[in-house]
Amino acid sequence: MKAAIYIRISTKKQNTDRQYEELKSYANSMGYTIVESYEDQISGFKDEEERHDLNRLKEDAKTEKFDIILFSELSRLSRKTTNILELISYFRDDCKKSLYFQKQNLNVTTDKSDLGSELQLNILATIGSYEIELSTERQMGGKIQKVKKQCWTHGSRPYGYNIDENKYLHINEEEATIIREIYAYYLNNMTSVQIAHLLNSRNIYAPATKNKKQNLWHPNSVCQILRAKRNIGIFEATYHEPDPKNKDKIRKRKNRKIVEEIKYTNKALAIVSDDIFYSANEKIDKNIKNKDTAKKNISLLKGLLTCGHCGSNFFYKKSGRDKDFSYVCYGSRYSFSIGKKKCINPITINAPKMDGLIIYMAKSRLLMRRLIENSDINIKSKEEQLQKNEEIILLQNLSIKKINEEFNQYIKKAIKYGIDDNITEKEHQRIKKQIRQIEENIERIKKENYSLNKQIKILSKDKCITDEMYNGMQLNEMKELFEEYIEKIVLYNTTQWVIVNVCYFDGSNEFSFLRKSARANELLHYNTIIQSVISEKQYIMLLRDYYDTLEIGNRYYYYPYYSNINNDVIYDKEREVFIKFGTKKGKETTEYTISEFIKFIYPKTMKEVTAYEYYYPNQKNE
Ligand SMILES: [Zn+2]
Repeated sequence: MKAAIYIRISTKKQNTDRQYEELKSYANSMGYTIVESYEDQISGFKDEEERHDLNRLKEDAKTEKFDIILFSELSRLSRKTTNILELISYFRDDCKKSLYFQKQNLNVTTDKSDLGSELQLNILATIGSYEIELSTERQMGGKIQKVKKQCWTHGSRPYGYNIDENKYLHINEEEATIIREIYAYYLNNMTSVQIAHLLNSRNIYAPATKNKKQNLWHPNSVCQILRAKRNIGIFEATYHEPDPKNKDKIRKRKNRKIVEEIKYTNKALAIVSDDIFYSANEKIDKNIKNKDTAKKNISLLKGLLTCGHCGSNFFYKKSGRDKDFSYVCYGSRYSFSIGKKKCINPITINAPKMDGLIIYMAKSRLLMRRLIENSDINIKSKEEQLQKNEEIILLQNLSIKKINEEFNQYIKKAIKYGIDDNITEKEHQRIKKQIRQIEENIERIKKENYSLNKQIKILSKDKCITDEMYNGMQLNEMKELFEEYIEKIVLYNTTQWVIVNVCYFDGSNEFSFLRKSARANELLHYNTIIQSVISEKQYIMLLRDYYDTLEIGNRYYYYPYYSNINNDVIYDKEREVFIKFGTKKGKETTEYTISEFIKFIYPKTMKEVTAYEYYYPNQKNE
């Protein structure tokens, strides 16, 4: 049989070689002789009148020059479904030619007398469901061809290299010097955090990121450079089968089918020696191992503590002269992603002291079994809420189903009346957005239900803890008990005290205060703390500072937060109110409920400090 090949590329980027080679090998396998190939380079949305070679193909189809026309895929014929059907009908019925579409493995033969509706539907279904997939695959195919030619196809240029107009890499000497320095710093025992700070202080621009505004180095970008094999001239790329319908993020997908793995070495592009590269990487691996062992130190409250100022969790680390553990707000660390510290009032609190206070507070509560006393009413209302939530989820799921059905109806209509693909795509995006919103809603309610279930479980348990049991508990048993009853512990910072708000799963909460220790030799065993909390006159809090100061580098910044409080404040445990005394004689005292008080001391504003000032206050920012 004599065959004709039709190739169309919509942009200059797409590769004609690939389409041609694939069709040629198909023709060979079928024993066809290729007599002519037609090629257009034009957008599929334009009318075929403008497509020169398609018109030539249409003319030649009237003759006996060939018997079958090979296309790589349906969309090569046209992107409009009505046009595709018209063209198929023209070639098949008017010219008596067979057609073959490789990607869809679709044979349109001249056997039947008319283009059967079943076939028509098949074609339409194929176009509809595979179009997105095909376009992804098309792009990927072109990419693989390019990588094989040692071109750079991963978007923006890698740090240390320039890309020429043909997408070949060349070493950028200026950046290559920085890369060599990074390796040298790392091998001289600097950490990636220190290297990032150092480079930032030298005003060296970081590699371009998606967020173009930020030119600061991040420890991760330092690590990425240390890890990148391209620095010794090794280039690797793995291509997976595209799966556009999969909603998971690409990194999270499992068992992805590998289409092609490409690896090549180009020593002309090496920036550092193999020796330097491998010793740096060995060091990184070793450091990762050390990090894992550090994780094994279990803490009593780490998962429960929340910073009241920035909402961060706390980490647990050894610090101070006496090598005690501390809980430190995560927001106190310089956040490279936001360019400054996340927390404006970060807390570091001695861990044994904090643990002691919570052990003390929770004890009185758990032993009094207050949690269980009111549980019957609580359980009932929570179960009702749970039931309501389940109903909402059911309704939401139904509405997703309905939206999907409506969209299917719309697609049918769109095909029938030949509605423009652009409009259909817009509609599709709108529907997708709508569904995503509902799904997010469902996710939120499911989370709430999880928490409700947990609370019901706790409330239903008729657990009695005795004094003896409590005192004899091991740390991990205590941790388990806390995690069962305490939802979170929110900490608020003041100059000399940390306000501790313990929230229990039954919805109740308790306040307490912890003095920040200034004395280094203070003994910090649990027993002493319990006593010290009692001896400190039961929750009397003194806020003496009119202004709080924060020292950053050598500069002081004022917090005007406590300026409203210019006298002592006392917490009345019985009535659960804070009492603030008047400043002048005869002036009345003011009382605040707990929530009012938190609002009162909560930070409102702070002088804006740029990331640079924040970290390098001694140097000028140019
Ligand atoms: Zn914080």
